[in-house]
Amino acid sequence: MASFTLHGIPVSRGIAIGRAHLLAPAALDVKHYLVSEEQVEAEVQRLQKAIATVHRELQTIWNELPKDSPAELGAFIDVHALILSDPMIAEVPLDIIRSRHYNAEWALVTQIDELSAQFDEIEDAYLRERKSDIQQVGERVLKVLTGTASPLPQTDSEETAGRMIVVAHDISPADMLQFKDRAFGGFVTDLGGQNSHTAIVARSLDIPAAVGMYNASALIQQDDWVVIDGDAGVVIVDPAPNVLEQYRERQARLLRDRKKLSKLRKTPAVTRDGTAITLLANIELPEDCPPALEAGAMGVGLFRSEFLFMGRTGPAHKLPSEDEQFESYRKAVTAMKGRPVTIRTLDIGADKPLDTVEHTALNPALGLRAIRFCLAEPQMFLAQLRAILRASAYGPIKLLIPMLAHAFEIDQSLAMVEQAKAQLRDAGKKFDPLIQVGAMIEIPAAALTLPLFVKRMDFLSIGTNDLIQYTLAIDRADHEVAHLYNPLHPAVIYLLASTIATASKSGVPVSVCGEMAGDTKLTRLLLGMGLREFSMHPTQLLAVKQEILNSDLNEIAPHMKKILKTMEPAAIAAAVEQLRSI
Ligand code: PEP
Ligand code: MG
Repeated sequence: MASFTLHGIPVSRGIAIGRAHLLAPAALDVKHYLVSEEQVEAEVQRLQKAIATVHRELQTIWNELPKDSPAELGAFIDVHALILSDPMIAEVPLDIIRSRHYNAEWALVTQIDELSAQFDEIEDAYLRERKSDIQQVGERVLKVLTGTASPLPQTDSEETAGRMIVVAHDISPADMLQFKDRAFGGFVTDLGGQNSHTAIVARSLDIPAAVGMYNASALIQQDDWVVIDGDAGVVIVDPAPNVLEQYRERQARLLRDRKKLSKLRKTPAVTRDGTAITLLANIELPEDCPPALEAGAMGVGLFRSEFLFMGRTGPAHKLPSEDEQFESYRKAVTAMKGRPVTIRTLDIGADKPLDTVEHTALNPALGLRAIRFCLAEPQMFLAQLRAILRASAYGPIKLLIPMLAHAFEIDQSLAMVEQAKAQLRDAGKKFDPLIQVGAMIEIPAAALTLPLFVKRMDFLSIGTNDLIQYTLAIDRADHEVAHLYNPLHPAVIYLLASTIATASKSGVPVSVCGEMAGDTKLTRLLLGMGLREFSMHPTQLLAVKQEILNSDLNEIAPHMKKILKTMEPAAIAAAVEQLRSI
């Protein structure tokens, strides 16, 4: 067969080379027949039993989750369990069997099709993607009903498993878990965007992957040789021998680079001209601290505390109590062994909704998000502030407030911190009275009124992910406008450079904790703007450190004028590229 190339969305980096293993296509194509009046109750029971079996399956997967698996995996299984318990799946198909006498499979598929059609109507891209969760749950039940075997190959040796490329229309996060143990090489799916569950899991598992390939699962055949270029989102099927050779070399080079990088773990991050740079880690849960230390992080620059509040099980998805939060924050600061931990207060809303809050916002990215939500829920906010303050008695903690734009929001937030301190004093509880409080600069209005912030805050952290989203007016979770998301847009460059310059002039420490900080293509640009503190996912830290070790601020400086003066995107891109080669 002739070689061909497919283009999709890159979600997880690296090169994977192996033979395709096709997951059984969506099993929604089922037998349709009518059951007699006497058979109806037996058919109802058959479906109920299948649903109960899937409940047990999910529970087993949950119980057997490896300790080190990413937090999202447990949350995904919870979502599937919730869907399975919802009357829309657990009851409506039973009514269809009773009223229309459909066989169990037909009744279930009818209802799933109906729900899928309703999801297609939803405008919110994140919610629309959740359609696949319902279909995955439906497929699980159908597999039990029809007795279809597990999609995993039964006899795979260690060696072949590592080279297995999973190709599927879509993969449920629960199924992903089974592959995790088998060390598969990468995966390709027809569906999914940057923000789909499979993309999130792939990134956290560090496996090369490409999603949104439209019809890859129809075009690729079982055992075809496949190359995934995870950096480009390209899949090459049955590559010519010379192409395969090139990718093998690239893959080997990447592996060698990784090994080499690990030697830099203890090397101080200092530029060639002798400027020390602070490299920090972004974490979601306290369990992420050991890998952060392992990567040589000098502290935590961003603890996204909202992950403690999301995907919770139990009665009414109760939010974590002050004590539970305190334990998590204390665990993090203890694990970091004296290095500072910057805890960001709850940044809930937009694409990180709380299970307990009804979602009615017309445009959640512009709605009651982050600090806006916290100021509207003072009791909940105070409980979090007290928990963070109490943990500050156990090690250096800094408090970071997200999404501030108005002076009164800063003042109210600081007043709440003082109120939480007073409550702890009254209760005789210990905390660091001099705890530093900082602001995320991630709304253009904040970047444009920085004197308000430097006057009031101890430090600043630039959230480039949101700063780009709000400057360019594009939803960062929407794949339809993903091509407009550009960190090098002159407006973004202007806001970033002026924020770093103003903060530095005022003597207020400033860091970048958005994705730009972990992108080695932008390291020198940020150094040239005067940035001295970078916070990123631990897996990116050593590559950024290497870039810093090879950089000389005196050589970067003469190039910066051109970048900061021009409005021409092509000139900026060329100048940034040139920076990389000096
Ligand atoms: C950011 O906006 O850049 C950021 C670091 O925060 P988050 O990605 O959690 O919104
Ligand atoms: Mg943000």
